[in-house]
Amino acid sequence: MLKIAVSACLLGEPIRYDKTGQRDRFITDKLGKYATFVPFCPEHLAFGTPRETIRIVLENEHKKVITVFSKNDVTEAMNEAVEHELRKIQSEPICGIILKSKSPSCGLGSTKYYSGAMSEGKKDGLFAFTCKEHFEDFPIEEEARLIDPWLRENFVMQVFAYHDAMMLRQNIKTMQELVSFHTAYKFLLQSKHEANYRFLGKIVANHAKKSLKETTEAYIALFKQTIAHKGSIGKTVNVLQHMVGFFKKELSSGEKQALHLQIEEFRDEIIPLIAVMSTIEFLAQKYEIHYLLGQKFLNPYPKDLALRSTIQEGK
Ligand code: SF4
Repeated sequence: MLKIAVSACLLGEPIRYDKTGQRDRFITDKLGKYATFVPFCPEHLAFGTPRETIRIVLENEHKKVITVFSKNDVTEAMNEAVEHELRKIQSEPICGIILKSKSPSCGLGSTKYYSGAMSEGKKDGLFAFTCKEHFEDFPIEEEARLIDPWLRENFVMQVFAYHDAMMLRQNIKTMQELVSFHTAYKFLLQSKHEANYRFLGKIVANHAKKSLKETTEAYIALFKQTIAHKGSIGKTVNVLQHMVGFFKKELSSGEKQALHLQIEEFRDEIIPLIAVMSTIEFLAQKYEIHYLLGQKFLNPYPKDLALRSTIQEGK
């Protein structure tokens, strides 16, 4: 089972300043079927629960953490707690981080900063900022952004692909396994970044005859970068057309027409991606196109997460 680090309050732990939690059902009930969670809460660690609320105040561009009512400077305690929670999640084989929006610690671009009593706009909370610094090309999101079907689909796809890459690194024994991995990810990688996909192909071809370890490390580094790109309707349509091109000789003219119509309807945001995918999968099964059936792009994560079932999952 894959592991995801999550702000403890989103798991329902009564750990917020007022001793409440803020359970997020998508995380606990849907992702929870496929992931175990590593909870963190820097504020509870630093100040206990319940506690006075804090805010981030900018002083000469330095971030200070100040309690809202008693006006105490608690920056040092907070920084220590952030470091501690960072080490905790770094010690686990996590494949993603989900943060609680708007919190001075956990907000991802949604945390209010102040200069005196004046608002200085919204930026990353202290823990979110530290996570972004230490986890490069890593799936990181906050729960409020995951309400958006497009961001949710991109995030979950990235988490599962990241997990696959971790498993590959852990278990790989032959170059052929790397080739098979790249083959299965062909269309998904193309839907993210065509040029990177081609470069990954060159790494796998390994004309320089590098060792398996060196080749795998180079591959995984660029793979992570590639899956961190967001998909788009345009790129997805491109990939769908590529897939159809793969078996168009086998299709009857009626099937071809129906499939092209579905792709157009997906592009025009009339039908969701899952409708086109189901047709492609059905036809690939009918004509026994195993290459397509093995594509991660068709099933990048468990089907019952149903992330491709809304019209808005593409942009
Ligand atoms: S938002 Fe972060 S710091 Fe605040 S209660 Fe939740 S986990 Fe703790």
